[in-house]
Amino acid sequence: MSVKGTLYIISAPSGAGKTSLVKALLEDSRDKDQRVRVSVSHTTRAMRSGEQDGVDYNFVTMDWFDSLIADNQFLEYADVFTNKYGTSRVWVESELRQGVDVILEIDWQGAAQVRQLMPDAVSIFILPPSQSELRKRLTGRGQDADDVIDLRMSQAASEMRHYAEFDYVVINDDFSVALAQLQAVLTAQKLKLLNQRTRYADLLNDLLSV
Ligand code: GDP
Ligand code: ADP
Ligand code: 5GP
Repeated sequence: MSVKGTLYIISAPSGAGKTSLVKALLEDSRDKDQRVRVSVSHTTRAMRSGEQDGVDYNFVTMDWFDSLIADNQFLEYADVFTNKYGTSRVWVESELRQGVDVILEIDWQGAAQVRQLMPDAVSIFILPPSQSELRKRLTGRGQDADDVIDLRMSQAASEMRHYAEFDYVVINDDFSVALAQLQAVLTAQKLKLLNQRTRYADLLNDLLSV
């Protein structure tokens, strides 16, 4: 029997650094030859400069998003800041079946839906070191208009209020410390008895035989 992939849910208020952390985590896992992929969500929000359709998100119209809902294509979906965001069910399930770990970067509403459907999912909440640093990062990213930043700041506390629903909490103050902490969660998950027992079945058989 092969080991199924682990599903990781990562949530944070906008600007806390989850996209940067996940990108760094994926680069590092590639170096170590680990099989981890991030799910590319569908969204109705406008593309930011520098974003690529199919890479950062699948950018779709409201009508197309609604037709995907009707067709049961989403593992979860939610309204976030006046737009819709959703995770592809088929892609996630097929990666997990092939033993690939999958990361979802989704909001707390999506996290709650996925937890119900997949109780084995491991969830991590990322917090900024302060409110003022959060605003600084949103502004410094230089991607959103002032009114969008105001909206995201005003929603930040209501997103963060859900931190206690998550298995792990990481404070993204020093980037490299936060990255190491995320890596530690992934490493610990790999070492869980159920995963190791399947992965090392032959070795265990050998070691335990008389
Ligand atoms: P950023 O996180 O500040 O870069 O902003 P985005 O516009 O990329 O994402 C906006 C919000 O939508 C965030 O809270 C994400 O966690 C959430 N989000 C992104 N993709 C999904 C998804 O597939 N499903 C759900 N439920 N939320 C998502
Ligand atoms: P999110 O995906 O959570 O909205 P991003 O990854 O886009 O957040 O990060 C928001 C901004 O903050 C980016 O400009 C990023 O470079 C910056 N950033 C992320 N982590 C840190 C950190 N630990 N210290 C300083 N700046 C950071
Ligand atoms: P942004 O528009 O800045 O890329 O993302 C804003 C928020 O949308 C982020 O907090 C992000 O986690 C959330 N988000 C992105 N994709 C999804 C998704 O597929 N599902 C849900 N529920 N939230 C998402």
